[in-house]
This record gives sequence, C-alpha cells and structure tokens, in this order.
Amino acid sequence: VVKRFSTHLNKGQIRYLRAGHLDILERHRTDLGFTDPETGRVMVDCFTSAGCFNVGRSNPAVQRAIEEALTTCDMGSGHLLSEAKIRLARHLTARAPAGLTHLFFAAGGGEAVDCALKLALGASGKTGIIATQKAYHGHTGLALSVNGKDHYRRHFEPLMPGVRFAPFNDLGAVRDMAGPDTAAVIIEPVQGEAGIHVATQAYIRGLRELCDELGIFLIFDEVQTGFGRTGALFAAEHYGVVPDILATAKSMGGGLFPNGAVLYAMNDNVARFLETWPAFHLSYSGGSDIGCRVSLAVLDEIDRLDLCSNARDRGEEFLRALEEIRGENPGIIREVRGIGLMVGIEYIHEFMGPMMSNALAEGGIFAAYSGNAPQVMRFMLPLTVSREEIEQVVEVIRKAIRTMKA
Ligand code: PMP
Repeated sequence: VVKRFSTHLNKGQIRYLRAGHLDILERHRTDLGFTDPETGRVMVDCFTSAGCFNVGRSNPAVQRAIEEALTTCDMGSGHLLSEAKIRLARHLTARAPAGLTHLFFAAGGGEAVDCALKLALGASGKTGIIATQKAYHGHTGLALSVNGKDHYRRHFEPLMPGVRFAPFNDLGAVRDMAGPDTAAVIIEPVQGEAGIHVATQAYIRGLRELCDELGIFLIFDEVQTGFGRTGALFAAEHYGVVPDILATAKSMGGGLFPNGAVLYAMNDNVARFLETWPAFHLSYSGGSDIGCRVSLAVLDEIDRLDLCSNARDRGEEFLRALEEIRGENPGIIREVRGIGLMVGIEYIHEFMGPMMSNALAEGGIFAAYSGNAPQVMRFMLPLTVSREEIEQVVEVIRKAIRTMKA
C-alpha cells in the first residue's frame, strides 16, 4: 500500500504510513505518537489523521472498551438497539447544542454527511445545496458532491445536481445564491482540509438568520471539529448558534473504531418525512454495540481528563509560540491561525509545506499539510498533550525552520 501511494507522498508521510502500519501490528503505540521503525524513535503525531485521536492514540479506557466488547458485544445491534446505543444517544443529545434532540448513527464521517444531506433534501422537498469552496466533506456519494475542489468530483460526474460553492466566511455570497429551491447550507465551522479557516461570529450568526428567514437547513460538518478538538465538545458552542443538523464522527470512535452520528432538530417537515420514509438511512456498522461502547468511553475520557479545557489552553499557548516564530521568520510564515488544538501555519510559498514536513520528520514530528491547501501545515495533536510537550513541539518547529532557511 505504501509503495502504491508513494508517488503522491513525501518522505515524512511515507515514513508515517509505514510506521503507523507496523506500529499497530507490533502494539508499540504511545499516547502522543508512534515508533518509527527505521530509527526506533518515537514520533509525535501532530496530524492524528485529521482529528481522529482526540483522547490519545492509545487511550487505555478506549482500548478496554474494545477488549470488553469483543467478548460481550451484541452483534445484531447495528440495526437493533443495544444498551450502549441507548446510553450514547442520551449522552450525545444531552450534550450537543440545545435543540438537537434526535440522531441517526453512521459508520464514519462521509456517511454522516450523506445522511445529513439526505435528511435536508427529503424533509425540505427541495434540491439546492450551498457548500463552500475548498471544503472537504468525505468520499461517499453526496459528501463527494459538496467537496469544494473540482479534483474530488470530476471523475465521477454527474454527481448530485444543484450544488453551488460560496467562498468560506462570505455571507453575502450565500445570500446571493440562496433561493426558494435551496434545501441546505453545509459548512465546516472550522475548515480543515482547506487550510484551517475559522468561521467568524458574524458569518455563523448571519447564516443562522438567513437560513431561518428562508426556511433552509443549516448543516454543520463537525467530523473534524467535534469531540473537543476546538476547545468545546462541538465547535458550534463557540458561536452560540445551533445548526439544524450536525454531522460528526472520527474521534467519536476514539480513532480505533468507526462510529459517527447525525444529530438533528425535530420540526414538522422532518417529522413528516420520517413518517413517510422511516428507513431513509440505515447503517449496520454505524451505531454498532462495540462502536457505541467506544464512544461512551471517549466521552468519559473527555470529561475525566478535562480535554476541552486542555485543548483550549494548550491551543492558546501553541498559537502564541507560533506567532512568535512567525515574527522571527517573516519570509517564511505568512500567518498562523486556529482555535483550540486545530492550528495551521501558512507558509509564504507552496513548496514550503512539503519541505517543512520533511524537516519536522527529521526532528521527530509528523505533521501534514492540508489536502486542499499545501501551503498550510496542520497541527492537530491529541488533546491529551501537556504544556511541556507543546514546548518540545515548538522547539522542533523552530529548529526545522532554521534548517530550511540555511
Ligand atoms: N468531513 C470532514 C470535515 C472531514 O474532515 C472528514 C475526514 N477528513 C470527513 C468529513 C470524512 O470522514 P470519513 O473519512 O470518516 O468518511
């Protein structure tokens, strides 16, 4: 697998894939990273597969939940109810932004986005979707259609018709595109693959008002931002705004087991649609007994270790230190930005992202540049990271930039 994809990857990424693979086989995972089989050194994982390991790469509670489930889980629960599924549904709806009282389970992020879009299309009876440029929502059918870069879609067209792409953080553009045919607006509150762009307060609040005014579903894709990543359980909390539908996954399964959810508010249109077509979304693997036990363990760990606060505090320290580094290197770094532990460094030139990921790999850090913006390197450490570990990461970044300048 590594060989087949290696033409698209740089040295640091190949090493990561190889290390990650062997690592799992050899059970050498550490909480913050993995062992590099070539050097034997522990690599700090600053990418975490874009936010899959919020509670750590080898969280004992998550591992225990999987181990216990192996002998006691209910294999039929994908389509039926298990105790863990009911408990998780209660937990999630209680802790999600108020009003998101119902949910469907999905096996991953793309499927959750598909389900969210289907709900909006089915309940509204309309066909138009407004998404954002450079957005990433997954590789399944409907999610693929709303990815904001042409290279994802062009080999598979015709995809879902009626999708238009507005620039991110541009409320005026959404207003111009929205019409009687618009079923939903879908956004990531913090764009990940697009290069870490945090939505402004005015944008999110404006979207909420616009969608209310025109009867449009507002969908938040919190697959990457969910489960504490931005310093709150869901990024929506930073805005005091409740979307109509919220899709999440990734860290919901602790990075070790697939599980995702679509939380939604009930209204007359939704109720009518569900009555007409109650099986509009079915997923055997989504909401499995084992997956729900893992998700419950993840939520417990987020609380026990106070990971939302840690993400916020460590994120602020990290951003402050990176801002200092930016000041010292104006010819290299254009901007640093982010929220919680979802942080990006934008380099002046595109070639610097791949160069820096190599330089950082030499220093024991795996960091990846953004899929849709190679000049932006993403830092999404496990939320369990300590202040000292952040300081170490900062020192490696400082040194890597020095070697790049030399
Ligand atoms: N939405 C967002 C915002 C994502 O970041 C991702 C994964 N990078 C997805 C959806 C798709 O998730 P999955 O890979 O679990 O299908």
